[in-house]
Amino acid sequence: MTPDKVLILDWSAAGKPKTGRDSIWLGSAGLQAEPPRNIPTRRAAEEILRDEIAMAQDAGYSLLIGIDFGFGYPAGFAKALTGKAHAPAVWSYFAAHLEDTSDNANTHRAMAATFNQNLPGSGPFWGNAEKRDYEGLSRKKVSSEPFAEFRRVEQRARTAGAQPKSLWQLSGAGAVGAQSLTGLPMLHRLAALEGVSVWPFQPVAGADVMIAEIYPSLIDTAAFEAFIQPRDAAQVHVLSQALYQAGQAGDLEALCAAAPVDVQREEGWILGVGAETILRGHTPEPLMPPRLSNDCFALPQGVAWLPVSEALSHLRSVLLPVADVRQCSVDTALGYVLAEDVRAVRAHPPAANAAVDGFGFAHDPKMSDAQAMHLPLARGRAAAGAPFDDRVPAGHALRILTGAVLPAGVDTVVLEEDTRADDRHVSFRGPIKPGANTRPAGEDVTAGAAILRQGQRLKAGDIALLCAAGCRDISVYRPVRIGVLSTGDELVAAGMQAAAGQIHDANRPMLISLLQHWGYEAVDLGIAADDPQRICAALNMGAQTTDLILTSGGASAGDEDHISRLLQREGSLARWRVALKPGRPLAMAVWRGVPVLGLPGNPVAAFTCAHIFAWPAIAAVSGVGWRAPQGFEVPAAFSKRKKPGRREFLRARLTASGAAEVFASEGSGRVSGLAWAEGFVDLPDQAADITPGSLVRYIPFSAYR
Ligand code: AMP
Ligand code: MG
Repeated sequence: MTPDKVLILDWSAAGKPKTGRDSIWLGSAGLQAEPPRNIPTRRAAEEILRDEIAMAQDAGYSLLIGIDFGFGYPAGFAKALTGKAHAPAVWSYFAAHLEDTSDNANTHRAMAATFNQNLPGSGPFWGNAEKRDYEGLSRKKVSSEPFAEFRRVEQRARTAGAQPKSLWQLSGAGAVGAQSLTGLPMLHRLAALEGVSVWPFQPVAGADVMIAEIYPSLIDTAAFEAFIQPRDAAQVHVLSQALYQAGQAGDLEALCAAAPVDVQREEGWILGVGAETILRGHTPEPLMPPRLSNDCFALPQGVAWLPVSEALSHLRSVLLPVADVRQCSVDTALGYVLAEDVRAVRAHPPAANAAVDGFGFAHDPKMSDAQAMHLPLARGRAAAGAPFDDRVPAGHALRILTGAVLPAGVDTVVLEEDTRADDRHVSFRGPIKPGANTRPAGEDVTAGAAILRQGQRLKAGDIALLCAAGCRDISVYRPVRIGVLSTGDELVAAGMQAAAGQIHDANRPMLISLLQHWGYEAVDLGIAADDPQRICAALNMGAQTTDLILTSGGASAGDEDHISRLLQREGSLARWRVALKPGRPLAMAVWRGVPVLGLPGNPVAAFTCAHIFAWPAIAAVSGVGWRAPQGFEVPAAFSKRKKPGRREFLRARLTASGAAEVFASEGSGRVSGLAWAEGFVDLPDQAADITPGSLVRYIPFSAYR
């Protein structure tokens, strides 16, 4: 059978109408997409299945229904209960005994208690979550003898790593027994319908509708749970898609073939067990929703000039870190950003040890005075990696080397240079303090102590600490990838012949270098001429391969600024008129879920805005978290009068005496100033009248790291 539609039912034995977690969910897959349905009662669920079966038969399409309770019991039970060694006899027997009302009130416990009393041994069913007792139904686990605790299929699933519970267990976390007791009566009624076959008990070839037992935990649904909740809904959704895909690929037969012939009358089988790889091969990939809403960069109506600080706080409120976290071994962790706090696995040092080469002994109060000491030497020595296994007798000393674990009977070490020794004795002069020249266990780091913080980018010293503290694998963020695109008809790549009217693209190599210097992976998206198709293709490529895109050029909304128009039409462009020199305007957009920062074309402005806006924005996206560069106040070595209303970043560097000098020209086309400068002077929004010696804020480029 190749089902045209698949329904997956997650059953519930609830005693009242119930929705949400652990209630009845129905997932659906087929030509038409339907979201998982939550059904409050068993009665309503049975009605829906009857309708679905009737609809399929009317319209002439085939239907696979997967249900997550056990269809059969361990061998021997059917015969003992009904006189017939055939699962359908059990369904009909249950159907005749269970009362289950339209509001879920049901008698499954009383039914199990009665069965127990009529079965050999103590009766296999156990577990009662209700207050009242049922005679014959133990609250605690009982032996299922003479029946096995698990069916063959459950044993098989367990060897594959799944953990199905025993069908005898009626209560407790994850118990499924009550679901079979309340579900099999429905299966009995559905199986009686014309054209419906229950696998593997009945032949399915030629049936319109196949019903099979399934087990949602066979496939991993974690990736979907991020946006389908509760978990039950994610499971029925994913399993229905997977079985539908398996059917379309012609793999349903292979799934069915995994059921051994000798379980096909009584115990039954879970579809997919024994063929897990085939099933998992059809598990859908979640379609991740874009991380940003399209209009996230929109500013409130009427905002004209945006102070830099407000532009920054708006950016900060919108950008989210990449969620991907992976494990990385400590010795290859350089440059990665920690996704969680790290604790020491082991103390450092793990054991008390000698800090110098010398002689170790147990401290004696006499040694606190300036007295000559003369101690017999114990035979042997303690060295790093070669501990002394014996106890050093009281009043004796032992030759000990730096890093050696202090043996029993040693708590103090005297420095070799302060002693005289022969083969048998050592002599030295006090005073010497107890514990001298030793390093106590955990002196540096205690086991379990928090040593590194989430958001830290790991440097060489951090790697040393991680290794010393016994850490092995740590959680890090996937390194972010930042796309860089230059736009403009006038641009040619560095090193290429430039015709009259053309200039060399300075921004892209500059931005790529900055990104690499800041520790990020830069993706070169090339130069796009001012042509919407070319820009569109470059942005699409960027959206597929990167976490954030930096563009430069075309930010000023002139006639040739196709990128602005394109972003406006398809990327919800927000043009921020930032009160900043050099810089404005700054374009913010979202292209297929990926943030785009449109930097100005002038290299000086592109460089400055990259530091002011891109650096903290990328830090936020990377998991490092929002950052502000560390600046400090220095005397000015220049004069300048500044009007209010605009923050200014001047190219600057420090003189030999530590004053800030600024580049001779403020023109934003002066690339030479970028090479000359080693930092910025950051002048506030207000007016300023700066003369040599006035204090100004200086931010070295090295503060961006
Ligand atoms: P735009 O923002 O496109 O109006 O460009 C402003 C100025 O920056 C113009 O003089 C451009 O030629 C120049 N420009 C734009 N992109 C680059 C680039 N990638 N490298 C060097 N100069 C550029
Ligand atoms: Mg341009």
